[in-house]
Amino acid sequence: MIDEGRQGEALMTNDGGAGKRKLYLESYGCQMNFADSEIVASILKNDGFTTTKDFHEADVIFVNTCAIRENAEQRVRNRLNEFKQVKRKNPDMIVGVLGCMAERLKEQFLDQEKIVDIVVGPDAYRDLPNLIAKVEGGQKAVNVILSKEETYADITPVRLDANGVSSFISIMRGCDNMCSFCVVPFTRGRERSRDPHSIVREAQELFANGYREVTLLGQNVDSYIYAGGGLKKEILTEEQRSSATTFAQLLEMVAQVHPDLRVRYSTSNPKDMTDDVLHVMAKYDNICKYVHLPVQSGSTRLLEVMNRGYTREDYIDRINAIKRILPGCGISSDIMTGFCTETEEDHKETMSLMEWADYDFSYMFAYSERPKTLAERTLTDDVPEEVKQSRLAEIIKLQQKLSAAKTNAAVGKVHRVLIEHESKKSPDMWMGRNSQNNVVVFPKGNYKKGDYVNVLAESCTLATLIGRVIE
Ligand code: SAM
Repeated sequence: MIDEGRQGEALMTNDGGAGKRKLYLESYGCQMNFADSEIVASILKNDGFTTTKDFHEADVIFVNTCAIRENAEQRVRNRLNEFKQVKRKNPDMIVGVLGCMAERLKEQFLDQEKIVDIVVGPDAYRDLPNLIAKVEGGQKAVNVILSKEETYADITPVRLDANGVSSFISIMRGCDNMCSFCVVPFTRGRERSRDPHSIVREAQELFANGYREVTLLGQNVDSYIYAGGGLKKEILTEEQRSSATTFAQLLEMVAQVHPDLRVRYSTSNPKDMTDDVLHVMAKYDNICKYVHLPVQSGSTRLLEVMNRGYTREDYIDRINAIKRILPGCGISSDIMTGFCTETEEDHKETMSLMEWADYDFSYMFAYSERPKTLAERTLTDDVPEEVKQSRLAEIIKLQQKLSAAKTNAAVGKVHRVLIEHESKKSPDMWMGRNSQNNVVVFPKGNYKKGDYVNVLAESCTLATLIGRVIE
C-alpha cells in the first residue's frame, strides 16, 4: 500500500529537466502501480520527456489508475474533470490513462471520458512512444493487450520522488489466485515471474547508487517461480520445477547483494507462504523481520466464499510459524468487511483472529463489488452499506488498540533504524524505520540519510516511536 498522502501526487524524476517535452505523471493505488510509473518514466525519458509537477505546463498528462475499489475509480474520474479546464485552453495537450482502470474499461474509456486520448494497460507501456505519436497524428490510441511474457526485466526504472534510500523492485506481474472479490487477475493478467538475475542486478545497481533498502513486489510473492520466462501456469514439467528459482532462493540471492542492503517484500499469501522463506529471513540480519500476511476474514466459511484457498486454522498455523521461526517479527494484514453473505458471527471471528494474531498494523476496507469478478457474477452483494461501514469502524478501532499497545511495548528498547528522510513534523529530526517497519523519529545529530543508527525509543504517539541515538 502507498501512504494516502502520496495518492495522486505528481511524481518527479531528478534529471534536471533534460528532456524537451513535459510529462505530468500521477499514480493511484498500490506499490506496484507506483513501481510501474517508474518504468513509464524510464520509457518516456528515452523518448525525450522530462517530468513536471505543474500539469498546466504539461505536454502529456498520464494518470496511472487503480481499479481495486469503486471509490478508487471515482477519484480518477474526478481528477479527469479537473484536467478538462486545462485541455480546453491547450487542446494539443495529451491526456492518457494507464494501469488497472484503463485495462478494465478499455475503449469504453474513450466514450465515457471525452478528454482521454490514450488508454494503456499495465503490459503495454513499451508502446507508449508509438501511442503518443498516433495521438499527435490526430487519432485516439488504445493498447490494452495483456502479455504472457512482459516483466519489463530489461528496463531500469527511473526513480520517482526517491528519497535515495529505499526503493521498490517488481519481481513478478499479474495474479493467478482468482479471489472472488478481486479485479486484479482481470486488470494485470496472468502471473509471470521476472528473471532473478535481472532482479539481483537491479538491487546491486541501487546499492551502488547509495540505496540501502529494497522492497520486492508482487501480488503473491510466495508464488514466485522462474523457469526461464513465460506464464506460471505453463511451468508444467517436474524438470522445469526442480531447476526453477523459488521465492526463498530469490530472497537469499537479494540478501547476499550486501549486508547493508535491507530487504523487504510484499505481499505474502497464507496459502503459499512456506517455512523455507521464514528460515531464509531468520538467516539474514538484513532481511527485515516484518511480514504482511493478508487474512481478509477470520471465518473459514467466508474465506471459502472468497476463494482464498486457506482456512482460519491454516492461517493460524502460518502465524504460529512466523512467531516460532522469527520471534519478535512484525506482522500486518489486509482485512475486508461486508463481503457477500458475511454475518455478525463471521465478523466476530475476524475480530477474534485480529486479537489473537495481535497485528502491528492492518489495511482495512469495506467490500466494493467489482465488475467481472467471480463475486459479481455469482454472488449477491447483500451486506447493507451501513453494516459494512459499522463493521469497518469496529475493526479499525480494534486495530488502533492493538497498534497502540505494540508501539507502547517498543518504548524503552533500542532499535536499529535506517534513516530515510527528514521528519514531516520537524526539520531537526530524522525519520526512519526499524526492521519491524515501525516509524522512528529522533534528533538529527551528525547523521545523514542512508545511515544505520541505534535509537533508544523514549516515548511514542499512536504509531510513531520517538527517541535518541545511542552509540
Ligand atoms: N494480492 C494481495 C492479496 O491477495 O492478499 C493484495 C491485493 S489488493 C491490491 C490489496 C487489498 O485490497 C486486498 O488484500 C483486499 O483486502 C483489498 N481488496 C481487494 N479487492 C477488494 C474489493 N473488491 N473491495 C474491497 N477491498 C478489496
